[in-house]
Amino acid sequence: MKKTINVLGSGFSSLAAACYLAKAGHKVTVFEKNEQIGGRARQYKKDGFLFDMGPTWYWMPDVFERFFNDFGRKTSDYYHLEKLNPAYEVFFNVGDTIKISSSIDEIYSLFEKEEKGSSIQLKKFLELAKSNYEVAVKDLVYRPGVSPLELISPKTITKLNQLFFDIRKQVQKKFSNPRLIKILEFPVLFLGAKPGNTPSMYNFMNWADFGLGTWHPKGGMFEIIKGMESLAEELGVRFCTQSNVESINVSNNRAKSIEVNGEEIGADIFLSGADYHHTEQLLKPEYRQYSESYWNKRTFAPSSLLFYVGFNKKIKNVSHHTLFFDEEFDSHAEYIYDTPSWPKDPLFYASFPSITDKAFAPENKEAATFLIPIAVGIEDTEAHRNKYFNLIMKRLEKLTKQKLKDDVLFVKSYCINDFIEDYNSYKGNAYGLANTLTQTAFLRPRIKSKKVKNLFFTGQLTVPGPGVPPALISGKIAAESILKQLRS
Ligand SMILES: Cc1cc2nc3c(=O)[nH]c(=O)nc-3n(C[C@H](O)[C@H](O)[C@H](O)COP(=O)(O)OP(=O)(O)OC[C@H]3O[C@@H](n4cnc5c(N)ncnc54)[C@H](O)[C@@H]3O)c2cc1C
Repeated sequence: MKKTINVLGSGFSSLAAACYLAKAGHKVTVFEKNEQIGGRARQYKKDGFLFDMGPTWYWMPDVFERFFNDFGRKTSDYYHLEKLNPAYEVFFNVGDTIKISSSIDEIYSLFEKEEKGSSIQLKKFLELAKSNYEVAVKDLVYRPGVSPLELISPKTITKLNQLFFDIRKQVQKKFSNPRLIKILEFPVLFLGAKPGNTPSMYNFMNWADFGLGTWHPKGGMFEIIKGMESLAEELGVRFCTQSNVESINVSNNRAKSIEVNGEEIGADIFLSGADYHHTEQLLKPEYRQYSESYWNKRTFAPSSLLFYVGFNKKIKNVSHHTLFFDEEFDSHAEYIYDTPSWPKDPLFYASFPSITDKAFAPENKEAATFLIPIAVGIEDTEAHRNKYFNLIMKRLEKLTKQKLKDDVLFVKSYCINDFIEDYNSYKGNAYGLANTLTQTAFLRPRIKSKKVKNLFFTGQLTVPGPGVPPALISGKIAAESILKQLRS
């Protein structure tokens, strides 16, 4: 029987879930507090420049393809993909960079040049990473995270020991060149924790990096959001923007309605893709599953200080994705995880999408996004933002050997206070809950509420974790859990 389903939020996970639920024949309405849909993947436009406000790396193309295939469609029905070459560039010092090619053979040659014998080690390492990818990304991460038994199958049993070793040890056992180690540890940062706290099973991210490559959707990541919106509308999903959900009303352990802009809107099922902690705050305390102390003890993926900058000229000596690893990650990571505070000498990431895609900037100008990962919950003031913008500009000018500051047309900063204000994000986290050993699979906050029978959760604070591909998967898992409950 057709049910009415209210979905909170319009990030990747909510959009994915809405599509699956509508396809199954239900009447789905999405309520989004902001004017624009897309959640952390919204778009910012200014003076002919375009910025993806959140995700910029398109990894694991098979996950996106699988999503659209579930509806008899292809990604190319909605957006055009280009494989980037170089995939990205890493700065270690002034003029000293490594470019990661889109060709795996060139990556082997690069490794061999940096450290003799390392290409053979890399081949072995990537064989394991690929087989972990096959098991994890094609199967395990699609499990609902309700029981440890989900992790056990003939394919996984031989791999479970990898949950108890960390990636750092695994990489350092095979490679000694510090630059190669930094490059191999980089993909783990997408999972939100330190390499030393991330199970080595997650080395499938290295296969995603070197094996599957870095892609760019023409027009940017927001094109995926637009594609999913079109698909959802074709399936009958209704969107209500500027619709902040103020409470979830429960009686007899069943959610009855949500309050939106002062109006009560009922439904049979409620699914929230808004930050998990925030969603629980919309319930009366007796219906919340996790205490404040539970949330406080979790390892959150970092927040970020971001700058969206329009430059009045083309920038030299950089690539579409450029990582500035000229400082030590370990000391930066201490400021993120151990003693949460503003980092002294931060690493940073820059995206210059207008190098590849004309849509991002007017002719002979450059659009740039800069990102410094920072601890969640620290003080965020204009003074901090200005200080770090100046620091980044100085480093960028020095490392890339050019004057840039005088060519800045505008700067928009975005940080903790904005994450809280715009997304109701817990402590201003950018990427949700990290994937550590104790926060993996069934150890993450549940997809289905155990206190409210018809309330479900999706998104980067539940299974499988942070990132766009996991958000798509999370939406599918949540929709399947709802459909299973409806069938029973
Ligand atoms: C700066 C940044 C860079 C990133 N880079 C990458 C990358 O390069 N590649 C990658 O794969 N991933 C990246 N990520 C991670 C990825 O973007 C996220 O994991 C993913 O988009 C999260 O989707 P979601 O559906 O879980 O949540 P969200 O996108 O946060 O969606 C939640 C939605 O709920 C809405 N909401 C909240 N409260 C309410 C309420 N009360 N009523 C109604 N609506 C509400 C919010 O407005 C929001 O739209 C990045 C994230 C950030 C922030």
